[in-house]
Amino acid sequence: MGASERERSTRAPYIAANWKMHKTVAQAVQFLDELLPRVEGTRSEVVVCPPFTSLHAVVERCRQGAVRVAAQNMHEADSGAYTGEVSGSMLVDAGVHAVILGHSERRELFGETDEALASKVPAALEAGLEPILCVGESEEARDARQTEAVLERQLQADLADVAAAALAGVVIAYEPIWAIGTGRTATPWQAQEAIAFIRDMLRERGAEADRLRILYGGSVKPGNAAELMAQADIDGALVGGASLDPEEFAAIVEAAT
Ligand code: PEP
Repeated sequence: MGASERERSTRAPYIAANWKMHKTVAQAVQFLDELLPRVEGTRSEVVVCPPFTSLHAVVERCRQGAVRVAAQNMHEADSGAYTGEVSGSMLVDAGVHAVILGHSERRELFGETDEALASKVPAALEAGLEPILCVGESEEARDARQTEAVLERQLQADLADVAAAALAGVVIAYEPIWAIGTGRTATPWQAQEAIAFIRDMLRERGAEADRLRILYGGSVKPGNAAELMAQADIDGALVGGASLDPEEFAAIVEAAT
């Protein structure tokens, strides 16, 4: 076993299902009825991220099992006149464990800025939530060999107000934009290279880098999960499309474990 593998063996695989704007309450509960027996006893950390409307039902259904629940966004303020928004403390009150922040769809379609994320990440930690912070480059940036520059800029900005000692409590999801929902997966080596860069960068920033969970996201499927997860620095996956089907999602959990 090499040094990286030895370090990684202390980090349990982390597999998260990002349902985006999919599933009614009934469909969410039905999904869990099918998923929970399939992942019982897994050593992976399994997280489902439903839309806000299903959070309560999903938290209730997951109470007895090992699956945990994340929201897909939150506001940085604790309360206030922010119509349409939900705060970290509200999510904790609803039994939510984690929150996705900075997904590329939120950055591209809803104007989520690094400045907002610099407030949201510490606010999530302060509320007691595990932030799942998404970063990743566009196709143009990759072609221009700017991947590392983009990742460094996003991470420096989004984590600017997180103390070094708290960094290992942030889960990072490396999601190259060109691989999200496109069926184009990064090669295991491309994903490993970018994730190793992120780990080294955060180590330099003072993080306990060997504890840090860094996921890959972008067209992960049962057929490519094992090869991606076999890379020394890839600790798990943030899964979109393939997470909508309990059998496919359970197969990804199985492949990672
Ligand atoms: C995502 O949206 O986070 C994602 C990785 O989607 P997909 O798996 O569908 O590419």
